[in-house]
Amino acid sequence: MSGEARDKRAPEPMARIERTFSGNAGLQIEEPLLFEVGRTEISGVDLPEPSNDKPRFGGLERQGEIGLPGLTEPEAMRHYVRLSQKNYAIDMGTYPLGSCTMKHNPRLNEKMARLPGFADIHPLQPQSSVQGALELMAMLADWLCEMTGMASVALSPKAGAHGELCGMTAIRAAHEAKGVKRSVVLVPESAHGTNPATAALLGYDVKAFPAREDGTVSVDAVREAMSDDVAGIMLTNPNTCGLFERDIVEIAEAVHEKGAYFYCDGANFNAIVGKVRPGDLGIDCMHINLHKTFSTPHGGGGPGSGPVVFSKALAPFAPVPFVERQGDACRLVETGEAAGDATPFGRLTAFHGQMGMFVRALAYMLSHGADGMRQASEDAVLNANYLRAGLSDLMSQPFGDQPCMHEVLFDDSFLKDTDITTHDLAKALIDEGYHPMTVYFPLVAHGAMLIEPTESESRAALDGFIAVMRDLAQSAQGGDVARFRDAPRYAPRRRLDETRAAREPVLRWRDGNVRQDDAAE
Ligand SMILES: *Cc1c(COP(=O)(O)O)cnc(C)c1O
Repeated sequence: MSGEARDKRAPEPMARIERTFSGNAGLQIEEPLLFEVGRTEISGVDLPEPSNDKPRFGGLERQGEIGLPGLTEPEAMRHYVRLSQKNYAIDMGTYPLGSCTMKHNPRLNEKMARLPGFADIHPLQPQSSVQGALELMAMLADWLCEMTGMASVALSPKAGAHGELCGMTAIRAAHEAKGVKRSVVLVPESAHGTNPATAALLGYDVKAFPAREDGTVSVDAVREAMSDDVAGIMLTNPNTCGLFERDIVEIAEAVHEKGAYFYCDGANFNAIVGKVRPGDLGIDCMHINLHKTFSTPHGGGGPGSGPVVFSKALAPFAPVPFVERQGDACRLVETGEAAGDATPFGRLTAFHGQMGMFVRALAYMLSHGADGMRQASEDAVLNANYLRAGLSDLMSQPFGDQPCMHEVLFDDSFLKDTDITTHDLAKALIDEGYHPMTVYFPLVAHGAMLIEPTESESRAALDGFIAVMRDLAQSAQGGDVARFRDAPRYAPRRRLDETRAAREPVLRWRDGNVRQDDAAE
């Protein structure tokens, strides 16, 4: 590691809190690695001595010690509880991460998901013994079709990005069924990175096109980019700048005229539930992030759930499995042969998807009702606009000060000539007790800050956040550079060398510890 690569302005990476003898800060306890706490010679449990049976590994059995740290039950317990307390969570405070919809997960949903009839069943159980679970999946599917105005739904995709793969695979199958091969997918520049990644993974050439001045896509730009080689368009609505694509119906028509399909990234459905039915807009398929719109927990890579709804044109190509009602009973259709006239493109998951998320999402829908879900959308949009109104005189917006949907986008031009970056501001927000907003996304805005308060925040909480943001913006413009460069000052770790962590990840613990590896370099 050469010293130059490190941000010279940043405080020493990994600097610990030095104020106390122990290194702890109040009851925030420094937590060593499990390997540093435990000892290989001990074990926390009493196991019988192994019998001297001959090993059956054909000479492949391990020769040396396994080297795993042994811990007592209280040691193991404390380690994981302390680590969990270092995690910031929506249950601890405001989590304004734009594009992520960090809304409250109602405890009622959790209670329902833990009912043994849902939590303790096995995917290989006979269908006759899990009729209640299948009925729940059928109900969830009906509600998703009702809310979106679409013909069918695949529940199995396990995240938004997985849903994109599902929808775009169906689009490819639909073209193949017509005997045509098309090689291009249109994606606007403001798209979430998963959109071009999905198209590329399926072997399509991604053709990016810019938005117009106000941050939305124009139908003329789409018409210009269309050709007989375009398989489809991937568009997000509301888009990742928090704006509603108002020309979406004309865009759909322009896409259909050329025999292509319209994939809508529905991750921001939470802003329009009960207000707009995507099916009425000419959309052919769309994923819905249950972990965003319908409040199931997310973060840290899972467990998400990304059902995909399909128009009549694409429904026959939806994957197995799906639930079908047969009189009073429900049947899980697991193979193409069992799918009747439909021609499913295949299957995406070993089983049927994330059962626990299905239960939580349906509990959210039924406890809110149609009016409650519509109000949740309206409140999410109202809260974002409340933040916008409270900050727009001090902070800059890339597409001008226009009403937003569920999230508000700022750029860094208000920090011009301050020598303070978006990154610095995000770190200073941590010192003030807030998880930072989404930064540097979407890429179309310079130094983007994307703030999504969701409907969960009270007016008092929004006022508190606005006050902190105003104080930070004013102190940045007033030249208090130290407050930002040194931030975070009160977190257990100061500013980390994030570039190095990404480029040279140390993923394996070696005897001694990680920093000894550093010394050897
Ligand atoms: C969150 C999000 C995704 C990806 O969803 P995952 O569940 O994280 O895979 C895709 N597009 C947009 C616009 C999103 O906000």
